[in-house]
Amino acid sequence: MLQLYADWHTHSFYSDGSMTPEEIVAAAARRGLDEVAITDHGPRGMFIGIKAARFYLELKKQAARLAEKYSIRVLIGAEANVISLDGDIDIPDEVAGELDILIAGLHPQVWCKSFKQTLTWILPNWLGRYSGWLREMMRETNTRALAAAIYKNRLTFISHPGLMMDVDLDEIARACSDRGCAMEINAGHRYDRDKVIKAALKWGVSLVVNSDAHYPESVGEVAEGMVLLEKNRVSPAQVLNARKGQPVLEVEQATAGNFYSHPASSRRLT
Ligand SMILES: [Zn+2]
Ligand SMILES: [Zn+2]
Repeated sequence: MLQLYADWHTHSFYSDGSMTPEEIVAAAARRGLDEVAITDHGPRGMFIGIKAARFYLELKKQAARLAEKYSIRVLIGAEANVISLDGDIDIPDEVAGELDILIAGLHPQVWCKSFKQTLTWILPNWLGRYSGWLREMMRETNTRALAAAIYKNRLTFISHPGLMMDVDLDEIARACSDRGCAMEINAGHRYDRDKVIKAALKWGVSLVVNSDAHYPESVGEVAEGMVLLEKNRVSPAQVLNARKGQPVLEVEQATAGNFYSHPASSRRLT
């Protein structure tokens, strides 16, 4: 069975999560993870964003102490918002350069760089939750913005493509393939994740499976994602946070229902 060693998508109370950074790390250690990333929403998220980008640097300062206390690697990243149709994101370069992981995702609660695009692009997407017609109508624009963000920024992966804001997954996977950017299977939300896996397989794009946890009990909770990977026969080689070529012995160390295993992996994102 495919095993993961890391959860690279969690939210602390610095954005819209309920947890302190320490609670995230403690929960990840309890799950038997070797690595966890705290990836709060970018500052332009309406009601969900971090107060200011400089708080990521504050989180960075806490990471080493927490890693030592819980004997687990702690990464600090951001789930950036795409804030223009040209692919701009809401993390300044000087902060992005300090992060271990940079994610970008489309969210229909965001202040764009220009107020006009908030009205003409984001608002119709927000209303699209009530209208299939609007959702479809915005697909091409969403695809253009996300693809531009993939080309413009050095992203580790894109979060939940196709959730809340419809995109052409084939086009997005092609951009990811060009740029060496992975695509996420988000275990914390229900959307058409089979389609994401199929597009990634077609274009040879790496996948990552994460919890998107906002509460302690969800950290490392990726069971739904793992079932989808198994169903689509995805090889561990194509999953960035999966163990590669682990000996069968390690399975004995994993607890029931836990997809992670010991000992610590040497893989590290920079
Ligand atoms: Zn998100
Ligand atoms: Zn998230």
